[in-house]
Amino acid sequence: MTAVSAATRLIALLGDPVAHSLSPVFQNAAFSAAGVDGVYVALRAPAEEVPGLIRGIALSGGGGNVTLPHKELAARAIDRPTDAVSRTGACNTFWAEGGQVCGDNTDVAGVAAAMLRVVGAPPTGARVLLLGAGGSARAVVAALVDGSVGRLELLNRTPERAAPLLALAAEGGVEAAFVSDPARTRGERFDLIVNATSLGIREGDPLPLDPAVGVDCAAVLDLVYSRRSTAWVRAWTERGVPAADGLDMLVAQGAASFERWWGRQAPLDEMYRSLGR
Ligand code: NAP
Repeated sequence: MTAVSAATRLIALLGDPVAHSLSPVFQNAAFSAAGVDGVYVALRAPAEEVPGLIRGIALSGGGGNVTLPHKELAARAIDRPTDAVSRTGACNTFWAEGGQVCGDNTDVAGVAAAMLRVVGAPPTGARVLLLGAGGSARAVVAALVDGSVGRLELLNRTPERAAPLLALAAEGGVEAAFVSDPARTRGERFDLIVNATSLGIREGDPLPLDPAVGVDCAAVLDLVYSRRSTAWVRAWTERGVPAADGLDMLVAQGAASFERWWGRQAPLDEMYRSLGR
């Protein structure tokens, strides 16, 4: 990090909790490598303070990220949402331009980059199984629509939560269906399976979809990450299936955020290096 001065921009991560976040590690490494004058800090923020923090930090020259559980709240606190924010109803990046607070959802670009990396090709025409129907699953659906995916199938514990995601896919012209039971994937073949549930965060969590169920796939992407990868990624890798955890998405969404704040490309290699990958 360059020495903090009166010109240093504050870039803050707002969430609750935030203590586990790796964003300060790789963003400060990137700021230093790029020689930009900023400092990235994580602030544990109660919901009622989030709109004021976003506006105050952005309009005094700073910017930031927003994480769980405040992304939807952030989408309502900004003046100029990008298309990604409007479609997903979530904002994870903010900054100011011309006295207005701008917001983007770089999770969409981030997950698109992570899918491309693990599959090795854009999802055009692919058959994809998405596990989960929460906030990050929305970003996955938006990225799949942008990538002209062929068919989307969605498995989630709570069926009602799947409806808005199926509608988002349908609005984008993508054929989409709900899968009511993991057993129904037996014998089916997917080009990609994405885990957007929170299973895998805690030691001892069940696998989001056990490969032993008999589903066949060409690649898998887990949005959950940890320094030593996830049990789900290891289960697929042992079967010879290319699999990646959420670190690629984390870095890619962070790189897109860096570009919004600094107007230049992020030093990706330095970001990965700071995370030991
Ligand atoms: P969320 O909105 O809270 O959604 C959680 C999802 O997990 C829901 O679909 C929920 O199903 C499902 N779920 C939770 N517990 C479950 C259980 N015991 N059995 C089956 N399903 C369960 O969370 P989110 O924001 O979408 O985040 C999901 C995951 O993505 C988190 O692990 C987060 O860390 C990760 N993520 C990673 C990145 C990255 O950069 N790599 C970015 C964003 C998020 P119900 O609908 O049935 O409750």
